[in-house]
Amino acid sequence: DARILSGMQPTSDSLHLGNYLGALTSWVGLQDSYETIYTVVDLHSLTVATDPQLLRERTRRTAAQYLAAGVDPSRSALFVQSHVPEHAQLAWVLSCHTGFGEAARMTQFKDKSARHGNDATNVGLFTYPILMAADILLYDAALVPVGEDQRQHLELTRDLAQRFNARFGQTFVVPEPHIVRATAKIYDLQEPTAKMSKSASSPNGLIELLDDPKVVAKRIRSAVTDAEREIRFDPVAKPGVSNLLTIHSALSGRTVAELEQDYAGRGYGDLKKDLAEVVVGFLEPFQERVHGYLDDPASLDDVLAEGAERVRVVARETLARVYDRVGLLPAR
Ligand code: ATP
Ligand code: MG
Repeated sequence: DARILSGMQPTSDSLHLGNYLGALTSWVGLQDSYETIYTVVDLHSLTVATDPQLLRERTRRTAAQYLAAGVDPSRSALFVQSHVPEHAQLAWVLSCHTGFGEAARMTQFKDKSARHGNDATNVGLFTYPILMAADILLYDAALVPVGEDQRQHLELTRDLAQRFNARFGQTFVVPEPHIVRATAKIYDLQEPTAKMSKSASSPNGLIELLDDPKVVAKRIRSAVTDAEREIRFDPVAKPGVSNLLTIHSALSGRTVAELEQDYAGRGYGDLKKDLAEVVVGFLEPFQERVHGYLDDPASLDDVLAEGAERVRVVARETLARVYDRVGLLPAR
């Protein structure tokens, strides 16, 4: 089977509904047809200053949310990036094959460094895409499910793999982006033309998977809609209502067309009330599962240790191949 790799950063206490509907649900489905590897990329999250105790906590919480969503450790390798040191080791070698100008062109770096200023921007943020390339190339991943925001980084990964192969002989699999058609893009409840985002959305714009259901219901009731009354899917003219329909459809399994019929002649209040019920109905058992994992951290850590054990075999082989190709003297 082709191998798939993906990951999320442990940068918040809870994932949001965009992470779930846009990524996690497709990760779960991919387990049926591919060899899947899912990681919590904690090394990446060091680019954002975080309290050490909180980072450990968020790493477990992120893993628990993968599991609660349906990532199955008997079918997928689930591990924490820092538990496999080869990620950082391969990133160093790749960084020596990345042009400074090439890295400086990454738009995510340009955006983030412009926002924070030069002195508040660390070098890790600059080399972040190289670490991401290492994550992917270590496992010969053929496919990488990515959102639009990660496309440029994947392009860099492909360039690095091709360059290395051309110089040292066939070493890396050149990965393809895996675009999952059926997944939804979810927008900010308060600003429905911007994507729902851990770092950019205001609290009221977010539906966080681990939030109190009462808070979630309230946020849905106060979601921005428009001055008309008609419930119709039209992302350009009616981004707020369309976003609510997308979320409803994704969680209830009803098509958007069916929903439009159901709500013909009814008001936004009805839609919001029903949607709140649908979302809360999903969240309650989800949260129960997450807390089940978090209440037993020893078992969770066992799952993560077993995942790391499985992938380490491949990671070691790849790194040894790379060290050999570039001429590092083997240790004995
Ligand atoms: P940040 O704001 O810190 O970048 P994020 O909310 O964008 O956080 P990521 O950890 O960058 O979350 O993304 C994890 C995964 O979730 C990625 O696969 C990304 O494409 C997907 N994703 C993020 N936001 C959305 C969204 N609003 N709708 C659909 N998918 C999303
Ligand atoms: Mg993002």
